[in-house]
Amino acid sequence: MAEIHLKSLAHSYAKNPQGEDDYALREMNHVWEQGGAFALLGPSGCGKSTLLNIISGLLTPSDGEVLFDGKPVNHLPPQERNIAQVFQFPVIYDSMTVFDNLAFPLRNMKVSEAKVISKVHEIAEILDLHPVLKKKAKNLSADEKQKVSMGRGLVRDDVSAILFDEPLTVIDPQLKWKLRRKLKQIHEQFSITMIYVTHDQLEASTFADKIAVMYGGQIVQFGTPRELFENPNHTFVGFFIGSPGMNFFNVTPNKTGVEFEGFNIPLEENVKKIVDQSTSENIKVGIRPEFVHVWNKPTEDAFACDVKHVEDLGTYKILTLALGSYVIKARLDEDDFIPERKAYVSFPEQWLKVYIDEYLVGGLEE
Ligand code: ADP
Ligand code: MG
Repeated sequence: MAEIHLKSLAHSYAKNPQGEDDYALREMNHVWEQGGAFALLGPSGCGKSTLLNIISGLLTPSDGEVLFDGKPVNHLPPQERNIAQVFQFPVIYDSMTVFDNLAFPLRNMKVSEAKVISKVHEIAEILDLHPVLKKKAKNLSADEKQKVSMGRGLVRDDVSAILFDEPLTVIDPQLKWKLRRKLKQIHEQFSITMIYVTHDQLEASTFADKIAVMYGGQIVQFGTPRELFENPNHTFVGFFIGSPGMNFFNVTPNKTGVEFEGFNIPLEENVKKIVDQSTSENIKVGIRPEFVHVWNKPTEDAFACDVKHVEDLGTYKILTLALGSYVIKARLDEDDFIPERKAYVSFPEQWLKVYIDEYLVGGLEE
């Protein structure tokens, strides 16, 4: 088991990188604490696999260091890093039986045959692979093959960490849910450091205690699902997490706060100070649909909008509203009042976030 420390790590696939755009990973410093269940969440192409392959040693980073429990491992090949990695598509030996596939990593480590048998049965039990243990891997379904591939990653309990790179992509939805729970169970049982890569926020938040959100080759926030929801550190986190994502407005400073299209948004003193000191023209305010306050009549600080659409999702409703030239979303509980044509919205100060150059003003001090 190990703490994994990424120190000034960056990677470019280009031989002679010219600028930031040539980097698949931009310089980052990050610690995955020992024994945690983590997700690495981000859209396709943001650098998730690159980062995982650098941790496992399949790829040598162009800059910086990877440390396991404080020891640099850059020079160590994958076999010597004591890490298991499960890929998007099954990596198994077709001509071997399922049993021999699962036993392979253990036999490689010269584990006694008695231990091999008990461990393979334990993993087969967890993954429901008992019925096919004697089958040749080539005769399995796609789902079963991927389960064997995962089993090969899980069979050794002496590994420092297990890395999963979108392992459930080829698995059908019903089984996906079950396997994710199993992984969580395995984590609770063995407390091995696990990093689970996905582009699906639901998958990330059901598996992980803490999620690293990745965007454009950077980890833009590392936090619990709740922290990502309540206090997005970057506009991308606001947009990507939540359903629907955060509402944003492009604003300019005024006397008491900021404004857009004549709508005035007062800001708290500390935040206002930072906004006034900034020379950036990229200032946004954001508020999640869950925190937009919807009124049926004018109030002192509410803005009038037109109701465009109401989507009934059973236990809640999503309201689409036109506020000036912006289309915004508000989420209402099933028994909340639903306005029909006109509505009035206000943005509670606590949930109104200000972003300069896409990063949260005031940061994450709490
Ligand atoms: P993700 O796993 O998040 O989808 P990747 O780590 O695979 O992202 O890719 C990150 C970026 O690096 C992408 O722009 C991708 O095109 C590029 N990339 C990935 N692998 C290679 C490679 N072997 N050679 C050159 N560029 C690559
Ligand atoms: Mg990938």
